[in-house]
Amino acid sequence: MIFKIFNTLSRTKEDFTPLAPPHVGLYVCGPTVYGDPHLGHARPAVTYDLLFRLLMALGYKVRYVRNITDVGHLEHDSDDGEDKLQKKARLEKLEPMEVAQYYTNRYREAMNMLGVLPPSIEPQASGHIIEQIELIKEILEAGYAYQSNGSVYFDVDRYNADHCYGKLSGRSVEEMLSVTRQLDGSGDKRKSYDFALWKKASPEHIMRWPSPWSDGFPGWHLECSAMSRKYLGDRFDIHGGGMDLMFPHHECEIAQSTASMGHEAVRYWMHNNMITIDGRKMGKSLGNFITLEELFTGRNTLLEKAYSPMTIRFFILQAHYRSTLDFSNEALSAAEKGFERLMAAFDMIDKIKPAEKSTVDVSAIKSQCMEALCDDLNSPVAIAVLFEWVKVINRLNDGADTVTDGDLRSLSEQFRFVVCDLLGLSAEKRGDGELTSGLIEMILQVRQQAKEQKNWAVSDKIRDELSRLGVVVKDRKDGADWELK
Ligand SMILES: [Zn+2]
Repeated sequence: MIFKIFNTLSRTKEDFTPLAPPHVGLYVCGPTVYGDPHLGHARPAVTYDLLFRLLMALGYKVRYVRNITDVGHLEHDSDDGEDKLQKKARLEKLEPMEVAQYYTNRYREAMNMLGVLPPSIEPQASGHIIEQIELIKEILEAGYAYQSNGSVYFDVDRYNADHCYGKLSGRSVEEMLSVTRQLDGSGDKRKSYDFALWKKASPEHIMRWPSPWSDGFPGWHLECSAMSRKYLGDRFDIHGGGMDLMFPHHECEIAQSTASMGHEAVRYWMHNNMITIDGRKMGKSLGNFITLEELFTGRNTLLEKAYSPMTIRFFILQAHYRSTLDFSNEALSAAEKGFERLMAAFDMIDKIKPAEKSTVDVSAIKSQCMEALCDDLNSPVAIAVLFEWVKVINRLNDGADTVTDGDLRSLSEQFRFVVCDLLGLSAEKRGDGELTSGLIEMILQVRQQAKEQKNWAVSDKIRDELSRLGVVVKDRKDGADWELK
């Protein structure tokens, strides 16, 4: 089966042919770890997780690199631009690395709950300063950058004379001039659209490293060029990210790679579309910002209730990654019902009684879903296929159709493969706390029965064993209360 991928560079669906099969190199821009993971993080993570799973299912050996931006992401590209992370550290009176570690952990926890597999390598920008300095040296040597007051800037005009700056986003330099002019007219740069490769640190800037030009820090765009090259080589297969990163971030990545190596690094560029909330762009300033924790707990005034991580994952997969995705209570509740219906059918398979002969052909579930996903990751079609099978499972359960033992096993295996392995969905576990209290209550009921039968040996043994585990039992007349020590 051939995977067809929409390449942003060509704006067409192309057959995916890796450089060195069976190996595939995949790079995705990861989070900037200065705040709690939010809805905007969930979509790219789930999208590229689906890609990762599909490529593995197609038999490829995938090296999936997703970076952690813990330095260099400026508020804006002006001379006094303060690092986002540093700003957060200053506000919370913490070491910048404490902030980065905390939010990295939070991000990983949330991704784990969403069923997102960890990437093969998760490099941090701060751990690759040497590689970034080396890359700046190469770009300077090639003549596509200049120094100015201890900072180094990429010379867009010089580059554009030899190559095409803006080929990914389709923007012209004139257009960029009109966009960037209002943003800043800082003194060190020759042109407002030139971007920083190295920034000299101002005296109050804590995150700084020595370099041939100044004590400072690398520009944000640089890390992805440096780290993708280090782990995936001069040329690699797929680079993914959100559509909002296409310009300037990915455009700058292409320029840096081409300036340093003389050729582009990436063969297929993939961009997921954005999310909206009730039809509007999500933003802190717009007052409709929702973190993943708020979504999972329902603690946000915009939410009518909590939505489980698997509901969110299912909701994201129900849309094609290149369409916008609008979050609303209505849409999420509908997704929740759909997900429950799918999982109920999954459980039902075990209860179906095999028959002498099959009245349905179950052989194509996996191939139909794989086919949909191979068409530029068309997860909504794959899910629609699954729901056709949900109907069949219901008919089998009612006895309106029948299957043999062998077909039933095949149905179960294929369904599990598509739902769990490919789409990454799983039955939600009840919270540990809920489970613990349920078990304690159950044991105390057994003890109560023992007491009623005057079986003091059993009743005392249960009390003592629970006490040993840290559960204090206090007897009442008609039962017992308990608490954890
Ligand atoms: Zn990036």
